[in-house]
Amino acid sequence: GEIVSDAQIKAAVDKAYAATKGITAGKDADYIPALAEVPPDLFGIAVVTVDGRIYTVGDTDHPFAIESASKPFAASWVIEQKGEQWVEDTIGVNQTGLPFNSIIALESHAQATPAMNPLVNAGAIAIVSWIEPAEPKARWQTIQQLMNDYAGRALDVDLTVYRSEAGSSEHNRAISHLLKGYGTLNGDPEVALDLYTRQCSIHVTAQDLATMGATLANGGTHPITGKKIVSPAAAEKTLAIMSTTGLYETSGTWTWNVGLPAKSGVGGGIVAVAPGRFAIATFAPPLDAAGNSVKGQKAIELIVHDLIGSGMFDTGR
Ligand code: GLN
Repeated sequence: GEIVSDAQIKAAVDKAYAATKGITAGKDADYIPALAEVPPDLFGIAVVTVDGRIYTVGDTDHPFAIESASKPFAASWVIEQKGEQWVEDTIGVNQTGLPFNSIIALESHAQATPAMNPLVNAGAIAIVSWIEPAEPKARWQTIQQLMNDYAGRALDVDLTVYRSEAGSSEHNRAISHLLKGYGTLNGDPEVALDLYTRQCSIHVTAQDLATMGATLANGGTHPITGKKIVSPAAAEKTLAIMSTTGLYETSGTWTWNVGLPAKSGVGGGIVAVAPGRFAIATFAPPLDAAGNSVKGQKAIELIVHDLIGSGMFDTGR
């Protein structure tokens, strides 16, 4: 049966697009120089349902750097291959309450319970270090194939963004070496840093990102290609971590306002997942202070309220 009708999706997306298009608040990320060059008025919204229906409006075929929106997908591989308990014990699954590139949560690795998670830089760099095979080229192939499988097409790396980020990654380099010192990072920290930076530089469109999210909504099986990418259990744990920490230190505000597991990236993308139903992705570069797209957050909030009321907490109203 229909999860939501085509007419309902179209009406909700068009309404949200019109209502948020004029928002000018926020600022492109500029700590990665290439991201500051992206035109700030680009704006697109895509919805993909678990039965493979697609609705788009605006700049949904304009490629942008996936950045941190890649983190849940990489994490899903490690959750699947190394197991839930291993991820909980080794990487951590707790909200840091801190900015995405904070090093403070890393200190908790000296204690019993890691206070970081796969969706902040430290956890995401650690995740990349555990993807196999360990040999760097082969490991990159695993990452690339995984992202391609989630999107259902071959994705490119934006070399301009990659070089720009690689040339300004002192902070992430420090995190990588600290992780190694705490025994949380596998292999060479420079390799993990490089592969993480490459992963963040993968080019996606809003439609790709919505498709990737719809695969998680569909329990890890791609809604269009039918390929099983991760198990339903791994998809569920990936959504769990997105619901507690997908928008960094404002994840609480997000869950309060919207109530869906989501992930943002400093390239201006956000993906939000309605489990068993659909995913919404937005692309709008200007960010708030936490690094989340201003227009994207508002547009998703409006669509979710229109389509499913109170987000993932269905109280039968
Ligand atoms: N590649 C970016 C970084 O490491 C990702 C951050 C983000 O999207 N929040 O800083």
